[in-house]
Amino acid sequence: MNLRNKLALSVAKLSKITVKKLHLGNATSLPGKLALKISPNILSCFTKQVKKEIITVTGTNGKTSTCGLLASILRADERKIIHNSKGANMLTGIASALIDNSSMNFKINADNFLFEMDEAYFAKAVDFFSPDLILVTNLFRDQLDRYGELDTTAKKIQSAIDKSKHPTVILNADDPGVSSLQNNNGEKIFYGFENINFDFDFDRTKETSVAEISYCTCGEKYAYEKIFYAHQGHYFCKSCGNKRPAPQICADAQISRDKSTLTIKYQNQEFVFHANIPGLYNAYNVLGAIAAALILKIPPQTIQEGLNNFKTEFGRSEKLTINDKNILIQLIKNPVGATEVIKSIDTAKEENTLLIIINDNYADGRDVSWLWDAKFELLKDFEGKIIISGIRASDMAVRLKYAGVDMTKAEIIPDIKNALKKSIDITQKNAMLNIIPTYTALLEIDKMKHTL
Ligand SMILES: [Zn+2]
Repeated sequence: MNLRNKLALSVAKLSKITVKKLHLGNATSLPGKLALKISPNILSCFTKQVKKEIITVTGTNGKTSTCGLLASILRADERKIIHNSKGANMLTGIASALIDNSSMNFKINADNFLFEMDEAYFAKAVDFFSPDLILVTNLFRDQLDRYGELDTTAKKIQSAIDKSKHPTVILNADDPGVSSLQNNNGEKIFYGFENINFDFDFDRTKETSVAEISYCTCGEKYAYEKIFYAHQGHYFCKSCGNKRPAPQICADAQISRDKSTLTIKYQNQEFVFHANIPGLYNAYNVLGAIAAALILKIPPQTIQEGLNNFKTEFGRSEKLTINDKNILIQLIKNPVGATEVIKSIDTAKEENTLLIIINDNYADGRDVSWLWDAKFELLKDFEGKIIISGIRASDMAVRLKYAGVDMTKAEIIPDIKNALKKSIDITQKNAMLNIIPTYTALLEIDKMKHTL
């Protein structure tokens, strides 16, 4: 191993210890950042040592949850995995995860690498390793100010697939932008939903039509036989006959507020899986993770065991209890994801509280105009108290006012710690405090949740 790599590894490991000692955070990116600065090639020292598959998960929404679910399934299958958890999904996060699991002699012991990949950095990462499995969850309008148009994102993912040697590509058939990705170097597997049923009632008439429009490669606007949410569904092109591919892994879903049941057909067999995470958007994450597990030939009962063991990443539908109050934290970052989160909130109970925290730091996206595309109208009849916090609390308050929310029930407390304290205080025992923060607000809550 050359001297530069040795130096990079030592500095990275030392920085991790320092960050921990000084309680500066989780050190999910800094060690990797320093290592890559000293030796840009350090990743290649590790990536050839993996015993089985290198698995990558990319797409605009649901990466962290899908990866978390799949990690849990792989562990249930008694595989040793290296996984960049906590959403550190750029090269620095991947380097940090590898360094963290490496000895000072650059030895690592892993059956699988499971990498959540930021879609914008994926193609660059493929210079250092070639994924065996590439799962693409969806392509939503997301952080446009950072990444540009949707087409650009699809092109970046396509270029990563093209650079990979023999990848099996697992694609969400219900998302037209994803299903049109090509794989000239290996197999292409589709997953998708046939039918979706809800066993709770949210008034769908309160939903205005969804703004996401998708276009066929011929330029025609897609028509839909079924729309599940946003642009996800059974689409077809009236002009050229292009349509949603029939998925090899297809599922019916029964969605409840806090869990979902998936009946999956694959290779002439039928399996039923249960997962304890809320919302249709999470049912897609569960289906994606199961699809990858089935391709890896993991037995269904092991998959179910993995789903049972799954603990959500902080803020990705995480349930916790502080001072005997039930809290559910769900990250929001773009219109479609936020709308799905809002749908999962029970608005009818007066004893429930809602805390919305909107920041506009770089990692949140500087432009908060997306708040106007999310369906906050669904909160119009929220019976409990609403606390609004964060750097852009006043923008959020204006948005709620226009959504028809009764603002006499709302209070603006810009300071996040005070807002969190107050929200917990006013939530009644056995009721639910729903917290919906943007990314950097979520990190702040993570830091302060033990000090309340
Ligand atoms: Zn067409």
